[in-house]
Amino acid sequence: MSSVPTGNNLPTITKAYAALQRGGPMVPWTFERRALRERDISVKILFSGVCHSDIHSMNHWGQEFPLVPGHEMVGEVTAVGAGVKHFAVGDMVMIGTIVDACRHCEACKAEKEVYCREYPTLTFDGLDRVDGTRTRGGYSDHYVVDEHFAYALPHGLDPAGAAPLLCAGITTFSPLRHWNVGPGKTVGIIGIGGLGHLAVKFARAMGAHVVAFTTSPKKAEQALKLGAHEVVLSTDAEQMAAQAYRFDFILDTVSSRYPMDPFLAALKLDATLCSLGIPDQFDFSPMLLAMGRRSIASSGSGGTGDTKEMLAFCAEHNIVADVEVIAMAQINEAFARVEQGDVHYRFVVDMSKGL
Ligand code: ZN
Ligand code: ZN
Repeated sequence: MSSVPTGNNLPTITKAYAALQRGGPMVPWTFERRALRERDISVKILFSGVCHSDIHSMNHWGQEFPLVPGHEMVGEVTAVGAGVKHFAVGDMVMIGTIVDACRHCEACKAEKEVYCREYPTLTFDGLDRVDGTRTRGGYSDHYVVDEHFAYALPHGLDPAGAAPLLCAGITTFSPLRHWNVGPGKTVGIIGIGGLGHLAVKFARAMGAHVVAFTTSPKKAEQALKLGAHEVVLSTDAEQMAAQAYRFDFILDTVSSRYPMDPFLAALKLDATLCSLGIPDQFDFSPMLLAMGRRSIASSGSGGTGDTKEMLAFCAEHNIVADVEVIAMAQINEAFARVEQGDVHYRFVVDMSKGL
């Protein structure tokens, strides 16, 4: 395959939306993307999903400003480096939360790059392993990425709905697979938001009996529509007490501290509660772990191996996120609504007509 079709492989000016300082707001900004390396592809970004991490990085986690967030991308390949094997100009591809890793540690060799011992390179606000520059994310008109960290968009999946699969999707799919969720298993999903709504769809399609836990009676009907077999109102002590020793696995998407004891008590012997939200602290009674030999665990997003597996699964079961598509000009309003939990269930920015 030949080199860049333009024959003019130089760094390119990239239009973006960035937080110029901590706390935002997001405003138009431009910067230079690197020239293509041997195995790089250039991707014109068409859809970019809005993740809580975007907001956290703008407010607390961010290391260097201006900062361009965004790590749930769907776009079209517009140029390829001389050594690219798997993609060609015109292909529809996806880019997620990581864009490089050491590639030689045990995790990397097993395509679990998110657990790289040397820490993976994040899609935005990370440091490029070759030239040390700051990575800039998906709220931009194009992205340059090593083909190893790009994925073919499966045929038939709606590109806007597919974008959130690359963070919200893989973050929930990976632990559901790791803890062997499937037929004959009873699985609980705590929190029906961006992550939780995909977790319900996945667990149902995997063949498990799915129980959604929510604090909001309003969300009960929605959870059933998403595929939950039952909904338990977690604020109802009586309903919670009735769940004791019922669950093979509980996937917890809550990011704030909350009393975990009623959920730990709901686990069967040897069962696990996996917390994805990473609150500052856990609020639980350790005795509940001894009773029932239960575990509390967590999980990263996913590596290239399980991301490819998830995309094949989504194609087979026609699973995408339920999204509200917005224009880039609405991004600050969207961030505010995400913080209020006011979205069903993920915002996706449509950049198909340019920025
Ligand atoms: Zn994310
Ligand atoms: Zn590694």
